[in-house]
Amino acid sequence: MDCVFCQIIAGEIPADILYRDEEVIAFRDINPVAPTHVLIIPKKHIPSLVDLADAETPLIGQMTKIANQLAREEAISESGYRLAISCGKQGGQEVPHLHMHLVGGRQLSGTLG
Ligand code: AMP
Repeated sequence: MDCVFCQIIAGEIPADILYRDEEVIAFRDINPVAPTHVLIIPKKHIPSLVDLADAETPLIGQMTKIANQLAREEAISESGYRLAISCGKQGGQEVPHLHMHLVGGRQLSGTLG
């Protein structure tokens, strides 16, 4: 198993885990771009958004629900935040395990690309 996020799920490498349930875990990004930078990921190794089966789309809703919950816990609900999923090479995805970024705690730029 050479997927770094699968190794975090398995407890083989450390992470600052904020949330865990049957399907999803969330932990702080090791290289944060803002005061709050959390990754929300499925426990199942889905390489990228493009690999998400139609039947698995509810997982994105679950990840969004957890992101919103974490945003409240991080006290950035009112100030605002960004959820982002990078997909593939030109989408800027570096780790090939589906993940959602929750970023906030400072004024973010208006550009995505
Ligand atoms: P992306 O560029 O969308 O694939 O984002 C991958 C993110 O994973 C980057 O923001 C990295 O800083 C983060 N990352 C990589 N390795 C780790 C790790 N071991 N623990 C926490 N975050 C990580």
